[in-house]
Amino acid sequence: MKNPEQKKRATRLLHAGRSPEAFGGAVNPPIKRASTILAKTADGLYNTPKSLYGRMGTEVHDALIAGLKELEAADFVHLAPNGLGACSLAMASFVQSGDHFLLTDSAYGPTRRFATRYLKKMGVDVTIFDPRINAADFKALIRDNTRAVFFEAPGSLTFEVHKMRDLLPVCKEHSVTSIIDNTWGCGIVFQPLEFGFDVCVQALTKYVIGHSDGFGGAVMCRDEKLNRSINEAATDWGLSMSPDDAYLAQRGLRTIKHRVEAQGQSGLKIAEWLEQQPQVKQVLHPALPTHPDHEEYKAAFSGPSGLFSFLLHIEDKESIERFFAGIELFGFGFSWGGFESLMIPCNPQLLRTESPQWKSKGYGTLIRLQIGLEDSDDLIADLKAALDRL
Ligand SMILES: *Cc1c(COP(=O)(O)O)cnc(C)c1O
Repeated sequence: MKNPEQKKRATRLLHAGRSPEAFGGAVNPPIKRASTILAKTADGLYNTPKSLYGRMGTEVHDALIAGLKELEAADFVHLAPNGLGACSLAMASFVQSGDHFLLTDSAYGPTRRFATRYLKKMGVDVTIFDPRINAADFKALIRDNTRAVFFEAPGSLTFEVHKMRDLLPVCKEHSVTSIIDNTWGCGIVFQPLEFGFDVCVQALTKYVIGHSDGFGGAVMCRDEKLNRSINEAATDWGLSMSPDDAYLAQRGLRTIKHRVEAQGQSGLKIAEWLEQQPQVKQVLHPALPTHPDHEEYKAAFSGPSGLFSFLLHIEDKESIERFFAGIELFGFGFSWGGFESLMIPCNPQLLRTESPQWKSKGYGTLIRLQIGLEDSDDLIADLKAALDRL
């Protein structure tokens, strides 16, 4: 592509990492299912600019990496077999025994489990903080041996947005590496590396792959020294991504902007409608002006993606069952970011220790919605029928 920097975002994402001329004119890169890649001579095994072992990646991985650099404005990209693997890799890359690590209370559950189980086993001290913490309280948590902090915005299930503009300077001042899980913002509505974060993580399983049919993860950064630490940990753990999944992820990049924008607008319309319903106690969507972190959201995000939660007043088992029985268009399923709408009750998995709203029971029934590409009027009709059953 000529003068890529002059082209608009959708165009750049469509072309990033593609090279039809290298693949006999084929629009997409080939999938090589290869562990062994033969050299012509024995000497060639060791004197080659390209990797001759599939774990290090093939053309389809190169295409994905180039595309992710464009998506997240990153200089370095490390692939992982899934999103959790990427989160674990990012967390383990910057700490060793005797260090201190900070983690938001709103992190994705398995991320929290890795920090509180594996990092602790490694001899790392972990402190969990309220996602709405202010700069002064955050500063007070930092010790001489604090090496890294893991953020997630908006938070999993509960959708808090940190006071990122206040917290990032504190990280910089104390040389603490700032990591963020950007699976929600996904490089389309938020680019953390551009905003000032050191390291950005994505579960490619969600919006990048976008069709609920593959797994992938990525850890991205701009700094060479941080990149070396990530590279060492990724190599030591033997993390790689299957060529089939890498193919799906690089293909997802061609449409991600249109999918996420459509799903985001549809989701916001549904969130606004839900907010008007008497059975609904609260809608947890940062793009709503009523959301407590709306100002933080506006300062960082260019728009919404399609995942949010809402709280029902009811809490009794019978009413909850009546609400879910008869749901037509929303599938009951984990994960998100695909083309189809999903719904999960969150109460059974919500684990919070530092967030005032969620620390004690009795907050209502928390339901998370993943908005797909169905017509929003049909989704609203499905939700209306469910609310009417209450
Ligand atoms: C799903 C998810 C992950 C983990 O991704 P997997 O590919 O399922 O391992 C990590 N972070 C967030 C915010 C997620 O929603």
